[in-house]
Amino acid sequence: MQRLPDTHRPTDDRHCEWRAIEGCLTVNGSPLGELLQQRGSPCYVYSRERIDARIAEVRAALPRATELLYPVKANPLPALLEHMVGRVDGFDIASGGELARALASGMAGERLSFAGPGKTDDELAQAAAAGALIVLESAGEAQRLARIAGALRPRVALRINPPFDLAPAAAQMAGGARKFGVDSEQAPQALGEIGRLPLAFEGFHCYPGSQCLDAAAIIETQRKTLDLAAGLAAFAPAPTRLLNLGGGLGVPCFAGEVPLDLARLGRAMHELADQAGARLPGARLTLELGRFLVAEAGLYVCRVIERKSSRGKTFLIVDGGLHHHWHATGALEGRRHLHFPIAALCGRDARPAAGELERVTVAGPLCAPHDVFAQDIELARAEPGDLIVVFQSGAYGATASPAGFLGRAPAGEVLL
Ligand SMILES: *Cc1c(COP(=O)(O)O)cnc(C)c1O
Repeated sequence: MQRLPDTHRPTDDRHCEWRAIEGCLTVNGSPLGELLQQRGSPCYVYSRERIDARIAEVRAALPRATELLYPVKANPLPALLEHMVGRVDGFDIASGGELARALASGMAGERLSFAGPGKTDDELAQAAAAGALIVLESAGEAQRLARIAGALRPRVALRINPPFDLAPAAAQMAGGARKFGVDSEQAPQALGEIGRLPLAFEGFHCYPGSQCLDAAAIIETQRKTLDLAAGLAAFAPAPTRLLNLGGGLGVPCFAGEVPLDLARLGRAMHELADQAGARLPGARLTLELGRFLVAEAGLYVCRVIERKSSRGKTFLIVDGGLHHHWHATGALEGRRHLHFPIAALCGRDARPAAGELERVTVAGPLCAPHDVFAQDIELARAEPGDLIVVFQSGAYGATASPAGFLGRAPAGEVLL
């Protein structure tokens, strides 16, 4: 295998082994060059094999009874959702559109968990009719749900905004004042309210943050979440049968980031499961993992249109940009100064570029200055027609991008 320059390789070969076989980058045995000749570019390419391998790794590490939900938000491609049915225990959904996609994929309505701070009356009615678990984010929402769908006695959980956060996470979603969930100090009152309404209480949900690579920090928030839930269970109108611990497991995207220690998290979760068995008997533990399951199973590939130099700097202008892959421009989590692992592939068969390294800026075609995948990185020399591959692109790619910006065609998406 031709090694990519260290600064541009995914930070861990074990998790990013998009193997170059006989000089060609291949995806499930198909050479990428051939694939793109058939499918065209720009294109996202996702690998079923890699998704399955990651799910197997997670299942092996976690206590057997842990329920694994896939948040549709991370990558809602219909073929990918269909692939997930039967491989995960359910989907986490956050809109009526995701509910429809989840049901269309073949996932049973009872296996859906519907969170989100602004569910409309229509969305609540549809979710209740589908038999989904509705994760309530306020006492007002509980009243609205009861009014709309009380006759169905909808299944509900209460999302708690805890007094703590997941500090190392790139995206904070708990602690302090939040639009998410009910503040823990208000939870006893909200539980009382739920008990007076025609709702079937099942348990608690807590989602401290996303994209965290620090296993110790995740473990710590999981323990605090169990403490919190065990305390609140006394106020609940029914026995706690569910504790959704959230997730937040991250993937390394930037140079120097180290993969999450899944084995360590797994060991701690075995202990946690024992404690939960004693403190919340009969409650199942749930994790919802989006990017951890799919980010590293996806590549984004685009083509160099122009090489140009400006006042001493070399620019590669590519035919894909932030309208396809906003996340990789650093926008999603405010880290524009960093870049995802990127490689250049040359020629019809898309071999890893073997030319001299040069310092380049890889920029998209949009008339917007922030349409840049990487600034001043070292990359093997690439010419117009050569391919640029962005790794770690299976989550929050097409779905999280402003596809309509500047009227360009969307990227293709293929699951192999
Ligand atoms: C976004 C989100 C997730 C998925 O986050 P990942 O970082 O992709 O794992 C899961 N649960 C909730 C409630 C979310 O908002």
